[in-house]
Amino acid sequence: MLTAGFLAVTLSKSLMLPTYDLVIRNGMVIDGSGNPAYYADIAINSGVIQEIGTISETGKQEIDANNMAVTPGFIDVHTHAENVIELPNAENFVRMGVTSIVIGNCGGSELDLGSFFAKLEKDPVSVNVASLVGQNTVRRSAMGGNFDRLPSDSEMTKMKASVRRAMEDGAVGLSTGLIYLPGAYSKTEEIIELAKIAGEYRGVYATHMRSEGTNIFSAIEEMIRIGVESKCRVEYSHIKLSGENVWGRTNEVLARLEKARAEGLEITQDQYAYTASSTSISTLLPDSALEGGTAELKKKLDDPIQRAAIAKDMTDRLALRKRTDYGYAVIASCRADSRLNGKNLIEAAQIRLGKSTLADQIETVFWIQLNGGASAVFHGMSEPDVTAFMQHPNTMIACDASCREYGEGVPHPRGYGNNARVLGRYVRELKTIRLEDAVRKMTSLPAQTFRLKNRGILKVGMAADINIFDPALVTDPSTYVDPHKYSTGFKAVIVNGKLVVKNDEHTGVRSGVPLRREGYKTRSTVQEFHSTIVEPADCCAGA
Ligand SMILES: [Zn+2]
Repeated sequence: MLTAGFLAVTLSKSLMLPTYDLVIRNGMVIDGSGNPAYYADIAINSGVIQEIGTISETGKQEIDANNMAVTPGFIDVHTHAENVIELPNAENFVRMGVTSIVIGNCGGSELDLGSFFAKLEKDPVSVNVASLVGQNTVRRSAMGGNFDRLPSDSEMTKMKASVRRAMEDGAVGLSTGLIYLPGAYSKTEEIIELAKIAGEYRGVYATHMRSEGTNIFSAIEEMIRIGVESKCRVEYSHIKLSGENVWGRTNEVLARLEKARAEGLEITQDQYAYTASSTSISTLLPDSALEGGTAELKKKLDDPIQRAAIAKDMTDRLALRKRTDYGYAVIASCRADSRLNGKNLIEAAQIRLGKSTLADQIETVFWIQLNGGASAVFHGMSEPDVTAFMQHPNTMIACDASCREYGEGVPHPRGYGNNARVLGRYVRELKTIRLEDAVRKMTSLPAQTFRLKNRGILKVGMAADINIFDPALVTDPSTYVDPHKYSTGFKAVIVNGKLVVKNDEHTGVRSGVPLRREGYKTRSTVQEFHSTIVEPADCCAGA
């Protein structure tokens, strides 16, 4: 009887069609909550997690995850990957485990998000995409060419309408980039008016503040005031202390954020795990020089008095940061002279002018800016500060990068390695944070903060965005000098149930979907999803 029964079960099992699309077996499940890992199988059908536990049924596809971490797909809330339309494989992202990105940061976004999301639906990309609406974009479109002023009433009405439309089209919030034009000219009150609309739709206000260095504390006050007065929760973008004169003040920054939170403001932050930043070289010039564009800049520089004044302003700003040269600024991609790529401004001046005093470096910045500009990498942070911010429980991991064109220029390595670097360098080697906490910072914390329903936690009913990687091997080979290297150690990266990365190679699959704000176009439903988000544990080692 026993033998016959056993045979019957075996027979019926072997004859049965697979129950699931995909079964991941024997993995070390790190569910994204911050809780300790546990061992289980995971079954997936139609892009959704169906079961977690001991799974006896089979899958059409099976992955043995023995000795591997199985985590939710990583969610990167601070990217500049609007170019995902042109680079739909988003290879640098998925190959470091990022399955969902938020674009539209630092004030720059698509203006017509409805059409953008429709495009993504028609021609899918390899990652899920959410977007903020950028205040610089909105301000530029409403105010025309002259920005160093208050908006008129009708321009303000236009800006509000643009933000409202974007929120109804599914934006997850409003972003600012207050060191960039034209946003740099906005008064706090103007931003509050726009953030109120994002808040009305339960969006987030994500901000690249007016200063991350010398004036950082007044910038933080402005950020908090905007959140409080607009009743909009706040995401502090790429938290850092930039410049030696402010290094070491992490406790003051974090204490201020915690005070704001204690007083009722939902405020969180994100960071990338590097001591260098990256942005346009134009940020070295004063705003007043950049106002009006390249033609206006040329006129100002043609006037010896104005040229000297701009150079003095730059020298003074360097001195405030306790610097006497631009050796910390490395050109990533110069449109007019590719010989400068990978060179700091001292070296660049030497190449262009045959000499390299500070005056020559400033002349080189002028020349670059007048000839198409350049992106640059700025070595301005300290490792202990990066570590202290990472250990705070409310800090997410986000790379601040675009989709990388493989081999193009010498861009910041964060676009290729950020998540793998946290898992390899900061978790495994330096033991700065626990593996479970690192995963939480890349999954449930961003999902909860940006209200991305059904993502960021491994749980039955959630979308099957899943990473399978080897915690002992995961690595970021990308460096400042040689950045075009994909992260390694990923056995599988799964987006909506489909393998997008297999054994560290892109499969060509594009199974990403647009992530519109929950309840977009209907304001009555936005309250409901609060209850479906799992509250993660606040348990960060060493915080
Ligand atoms: Zn930024």
